[in-house]
Amino acid sequence: MTALATPFAATKRMVVKTGSALIVDEAGEIRKAWLDKLADDIAVLVKRGIEIAVVTSGAVAIGRWKLGFGRRGLKIEEKQAAAATGQVWLAHAWAEALGARGIVGAQVLLTPDDTEARRRHLNARATVAKLLDAKAVPIINENDTIATEEIRFGDNDRLAARVAQMASADTLILLSDIDGLYTADPHSNPDAKHIPEVLELTPDILAMAGEARPGYSSGGMVTKLGAARIALGAGCRMGIALGKRDNPLMALEQGARVTWFMPQGSPASARKRWIASTVQPAGSVVVDDGAAAALSRGKSLLPAGVVTVNGEFDRGDAIRVLDKAGRELARGLSAYSAADARAIQGRKSAEIAELLGYRGRDELIHRDDLAMAGGPGR
Ligand code: GLU
Repeated sequence: MTALATPFAATKRMVVKTGSALIVDEAGEIRKAWLDKLADDIAVLVKRGIEIAVVTSGAVAIGRWKLGFGRRGLKIEEKQAAAATGQVWLAHAWAEALGARGIVGAQVLLTPDDTEARRRHLNARATVAKLLDAKAVPIINENDTIATEEIRFGDNDRLAARVAQMASADTLILLSDIDGLYTADPHSNPDAKHIPEVLELTPDILAMAGEARPGYSSGGMVTKLGAARIALGAGCRMGIALGKRDNPLMALEQGARVTWFMPQGSPASARKRWIASTVQPAGSVVVDDGAAAALSRGKSLLPAGVVTVNGEFDRGDAIRVLDKAGRELARGLSAYSAADARAIQGRKSAEIAELLGYRGRDELIHRDDLAMAGGPGR
């Protein structure tokens, strides 16, 4: 993919992140007129068939005023209380803005575990995929109310990149207070030059971010480059674009300045590499010849094809898939724990609900969660 004049031509699934300073004014009020214009852009792109998830900050910035904390620095529990308060208003404003354009919004609150730990990852991935499939727009923020300092993303740039990775998005746009990466901070250096495209995060590029700048929102250029590292590793193109203008996404289509960070591979191949790179799979399943042949044709692994389940693992853990001779055919994320996998091995997917007492996935390992031996990263 190259950075085209029509930047969304090849986009199928996109994450758009907006910072607090864009969506909330200095007095803690939602900037509705701006939000409406962004919702206009999202509606245009969704109607074109692009799946969009929004990562939105602003909960703390709204809630701090509602609780009377004002502008002052907040202790962690005050921040959490502010987030709990502001999130209601934030999600409502989004749902209303999208709803007025015929689009259903759905709130998703995440902690790092939901996107980074494999065990939790399948749940959040499946929910977001289902929403996108239903043409809804997930409105995502960090679950600040329960995430404590040590286990927080802390900034929504990183959260947005993790969401892009989790959802196998091909494009991530960080709407920011600046229209991209410059060779130096353009606020203090008039000779700073804009960089339109970054192919690799070299030490030179990282040095351009300078020091983290304290300000109204937590993300500066340093956190944006951190997000770029995650996105590129996930095969996702990332753009840093100016958010402080009306219709910021359409502006990109009209050639507005942006810095594109271009990945080498695709989200699918990056995901398979990530799965393949599991150092210590938690267990394994032995499959029959029919299932082995189906896997090599790119199909999912169904419980019916499994003859033995080895080891102890949880839903979402990476396991090995072996043929009857013990050769490793693939690695994949199991949709069932070892105990449940034993209960359904050799059985038809239609019997799962009766055997387990709940209606799980039809596949033991979905093909998107399978990395074949000899495939990417192997
Ligand atoms: N999750 C925080 C909020 O909604 C914002 C974090 C950030 O600005 O990066 O208030």
